[in-house]
Order: sequence, then C-alpha cells, then structure tokens
Amino acid sequence: MSEEAAGLRLTIDLAALAGNWRRLAGLVRPAECAAVVKADAYGTGIAAAGPALAAAGARTFFVALPEEGAALRRALKRSAAPDAPIYVLNGFFPQAAPLYGENRLFPVLGHPGELEQWTAWQGREEAALHVDTGMNRLGFSEGEVESLARSGGPGKGVNLLISHLACADEPEHPINAEQLRRFAVAKALLKLPRASLANSAGIHMGADFRHDLVRPGIALYGGASHPQAVSDPVVTAEARILQVRGGHIGETVGYGACETLKRTSRIAILSVGYADGYLRAAGSSDAASGALVCIDGHLAPLLGRVSMDLIAADVTDIPDGLAAPGRWAELFGHNVDIDAVARHAGTIAYELLTGLSRRAHRRYVRAGD
Ligand SMILES: *Cc1c(COP(=O)(O)O)cnc(C)c1O
Repeated sequence: MSEEAAGLRLTIDLAALAGNWRRLAGLVRPAECAAVVKADAYGTGIAAAGPALAAAGARTFFVALPEEGAALRRALKRSAAPDAPIYVLNGFFPQAAPLYGENRLFPVLGHPGELEQWTAWQGREEAALHVDTGMNRLGFSEGEVESLARSGGPGKGVNLLISHLACADEPEHPINAEQLRRFAVAKALLKLPRASLANSAGIHMGADFRHDLVRPGIALYGGASHPQAVSDPVVTAEARILQVRGGHIGETVGYGACETLKRTSRIAILSVGYADGYLRAAGSSDAASGALVCIDGHLAPLLGRVSMDLIAADVTDIPDGLAAPGRWAELFGHNVDIDAVARHAGTIAYELLTGLSRRAHRRYVRAGD
C-alpha cells in the first residue's frame, strides 16, 4: 500500500529496535540475548526487522512457524548474521520438513512423539527441547523428562533446553519461583549444553532467570514488559484525517448511537478501523471512555464505536487548523502509549501489534536517517 493511498501509516523505527536489543544485551551479559521475531516480527515486518537485529548484534532467532523461519533466512542472507540459528518454537511439522532442511531451521521439540519424528528425519541437524514447568502448553512433562533422562537423553543435535514463564509480568507470583525450580531439575537431568527460560519480562526477574540465552520479544518492539524495563517505541501508527465536521449537543456519533455529544463539538473522522487492526473494543460510549489519539501534540478522545474502516475523535479542544483533512493523527507511538491503547481495548500491546493489517503503509526509519 503506497503512502498516498493509505488510510493507516506505520513508521517503524529500526534504530529504536536495534537500541532496544542492545540495551537488553548489555543488561543480560554474559548471557546471550536472542531475538524473538515470530508473527512477522510482532507486526513490524521480518524482512526489515531481522537484518536490523542482526546488525545490532543478535545471533540467535526464534520464530513460531517454519514459513516464518524461511522468510527470516531469506532476509538474513545479506545481513551481518546469514547463518544465525533460527529456532521454530511451534516445533517440527513433518510434512514441512524440507523447509527446515533448506533454511537450516531448528525445531523446538515439545513432546516425545515430536522428538521421535525429528530423530527419524534424515535431514536433522540441531534442535531445542522444550520442557513444561507449569504452563501446560508445550513441552515435555516432568515424567517425560525423567524417562527421557533414564533412556540416555534426547540424543545428538539437541543442544538447547528451553521453558517458558506463565507469569513473568507478575514478578511476585509464586509460580515464577516454582518454574525456576522445575527448570533446574530438568536441566540437571538432561544436561544439554545450553538453557533458556526468560522472555522480555523474565529478564527483569534477576540473573537466576537468565541462564545462557534470553528470548525477548515485546521489549524489542516497544511494549511494556516490566515496571523496570525501558523500551523505546518502535512503531508509530497514524491515521489519515478525512474530514472535520460539526456536531450538536445531544446528537450521537457512530454505530449503535452509543455516544451522545455533551457539547457543540468538532469531530475528526479518521481513515482507520478494526479491519486495519485498530481494535473495536478501543471505542468509546456514554458508559466508558475509549482510547486517545494525538494530533500535532494534542490529545483527542475517540467518539463512539470503532467501525471497520473509520473512527471519530473529538477535536473540539484542538487549536483551529491542526486537525485538517489530509493530515495524520497518531494512534500510538511517542505521544500515545501503545499499552494504554491496548488496555482500553481490554488487551495487550502484543495483540495490537501483531494484528496490524496488510492494508497499512509501512515505512522504515533506519539508523542515521
Ligand atoms: C513469544 C515467546 C517469547 C517472547 O515473549 P515476550 O513476552 O514477547 O518477550 C519467548 N519465548 C517463547 C517460548 C515465546 O512463545
């Protein structure tokens, strides 16, 4: 989508992305800092984000799916780390085995049957093993780890042990210490060369949680992960202002007529909606206020529901001329906190970022631009 024709414009700051990675890498040394780039690098675009992270120094990558790994390998070809290990978190898909071979993708094996399938595959090279320490999502159970250890371990090529924290964003939650303890037990039983437990939030839970390799995702892309975490915004989302209209006290705005104007108002209509990934639940009504947008440094609250392709904002208090057709209103970025928008929609920044649609125009800002 060209900028001229787009309703939603995303500016992706690759220098901020690189800076976020470097800050974390410095914090966790001597542990290694990987980069989680699943879901098209959290919506930022893996073709640009992968090489930018490699240039910053990232040497280990995680994706969710084999196709994502193939796209990342293509992107890394002309980067600082063309051969960097790419781990596939959702594991080994036997029917897609050629993708793993052609792109040197290493599956993260999540159950005994999967380890068997991968072991039987001729093209196998390296893999990670996922142990479940309390999430009951992916990973070998405690009993499966014990029997694997008794039978001599996972075998050649399996060189990384991982697990995932359920409540790293709640540092005081007792499950964190319990997961750390269970991970130590699995580590001692399986004796793999390297171990990795922490995601973005886990990094801030202390050195005990960092092991050999940390796996930040959201913190690289500017989402809040922990009260102590510093992360610069990477994505600025802006919507085109289509028109500014007057509305009278007592009239309503949008579908369902669920927001009533409490004064004579000026209403800016913006070219973005839930079809672009701007979540419907972020809208406003008489019962509950919605998210804010920012026009030339001035905040403006949403009015009424989010439509498929449009939203409305109250620009009555914004100086004349700033809210004008053809100009852009920030939905989130440096002025509107992405986590605040997500909270208004009852969700998290992860969902907002990864849901941004193909319909948006994406432009990249590189270091030195
Ligand atoms: C997505 C994911 C991560 C990254 O999590 P963030 O909270 O975004 O830092 C790390 N590890 C696993 C297994 C994941 O699925």
